[in-house]
Amino acid sequence: MGLPFANPQRALLWASGTHQQRPLTFCRSAATTAGMDFAAITTILLDRDGTLIEDCHYLCDPDAVCLIPGVAPAMAALRRRGVRFFLVSNQSGLARGLFTQEELTQVQVRLSSMLAAHGACLDDAVFCPHGPEDACRCRKPGPGLWEALRARHHLDPSTTLVVGDKASDVAFGLAQGCLTALVHTGHGKAEAAKLGLPPLHNDPMKLPSRPAWPHLQASSLTAVLHMLLALGAAQ
Ligand SMILES: [Mg+2]
Ligand SMILES: [Zn+2]
Repeated sequence: MGLPFANPQRALLWASGTHQQRPLTFCRSAATTAGMDFAAITTILLDRDGTLIEDCHYLCDPDAVCLIPGVAPAMAALRRRGVRFFLVSNQSGLARGLFTQEELTQVQVRLSSMLAAHGACLDDAVFCPHGPEDACRCRKPGPGLWEALRARHHLDPSTTLVVGDKASDVAFGLAQGCLTALVHTGHGKAEAAKLGLPPLHNDPMKLPSRPAWPHLQASSLTAVLHMLLALGAAQ
């Protein structure tokens, strides 16, 4: 119960040096469909397991961290345009005693170094350490992790995209008025079926507005990031 904890070795997870904030320059007519302004995105909130890295059940071994292919270079390219990335992750394995905070930190250190090898980074990372039965505010889709990041980094939902592989990630983003994307890595395919999403004919595929549906579905986070990069191709 209580507040979400930030990463215990915060300095390790921050980007080194200054981080430029510049508006994105995109072709707006191509990027805007039914009020979805992907060209305006300057902030991306990422789920960890099954979205940024392969889903290993209750991951506690840093050597088992495996990035989704192509993600890190795409993150680096968007970062050079001023996009910020934040990790927002439920880690109920802590509450269940399946791994320790120290092990979670070691996984995070490994993840950060793998991203850094490509010039990518996370601007911050927040975790919910509770289980579903704890009824905390910070377990997605609860608002606690959003509130923690918003206060620290002045996030604006109208320029924020939430990406995850579960309906709870989508619900988390929708509740705050963010754009949302469901990726088909991790649990994504099963979650898409549960939500009744249409088959993934285009990748990424924009979706009509329905309760609980994401704005976008895609084969992977890489496909989502490449779409954002392509919107700025005229830059
Ligand atoms: Mg996930
Ligand atoms: Zn929590």
